[in-house]
Amino acid sequence: MGGTFDPIHTGHLRMAEEMAEALNLSQVRFIPAGQPPHRHLPRTSALHRLEMVRRAVAGNPRFAVDAREVEQPAPSYTVDTLTALRAEFGPDQPLWLLLGADAFAGLPGWHEWRQLFALANIVVATRPDAGATRPDALGAELKQELAHRQVPAGSATGPAGALVLQNMTALDISATRIRATLARQGSARYLLPDAVLDYIHHQQLYLSP
Ligand code: ATP
Ligand code: MG
Repeated sequence: MGGTFDPIHTGHLRMAEEMAEALNLSQVRFIPAGQPPHRHLPRTSALHRLEMVRRAVAGNPRFAVDAREVEQPAPSYTVDTLTALRAEFGPDQPLWLLLGADAFAGLPGWHEWRQLFALANIVVATRPDAGATRPDALGAELKQELAHRQVPAGSATGPAGALVLQNMTALDISATRIRATLARQGSARYLLPDAVLDYIHHQQLYLSP
């Protein structure tokens, strides 16, 4: 599961937990982006974002942190990270890319996005009423991929190439809104783990909008 995690919050953690349970995953790796090429620069340094992810996943034995993208000086593409993971795990290990519905809707803008299906399966965390990211509102290219690749969660899949749409508990939490709340000295408590919020306050992050 990739993301800027600026900061990581309960929406991310719950998404990972529910997808792991639905797909019976042995591990979820959180991979904070270094300099994501497809969006504006994160405002918080990669090391702070990495540390917040570390604190958020501590205590969940199924969760792990993978620092490879933040340790790279150049922007990293998901296709490159998955290529490296595929080489490490070998051709037979099922790998799943975890995406929120909004990220999936933007997939055709990603570098070499079709190649992702050769490297991993993809699970999209959807919500029953997700407006522009509802499956029927997706662009033609993604609809076509869905028509070819969609399988129900829990069905037998190979190492790569399958697409699963999995409903999750809708949590209308975004890092953007948390940053805005913190900048106006508001309370972000219960939107993200206490350990992350303590770190934010201690490091004096997100003080200005
Ligand atoms: P920002 O507001 O800065 O864009 P964000 O909260 O959307 O941050 P990202 O790091 O952009 O977080 O998202 C990483 C991944 O987590 C994406 O796949 C995204 O779809 C998913 N995601 C983010 N928030 C939620 C949420 N509340 N519920 C489910 N998935 C989420
Ligand atoms: Mg986002």
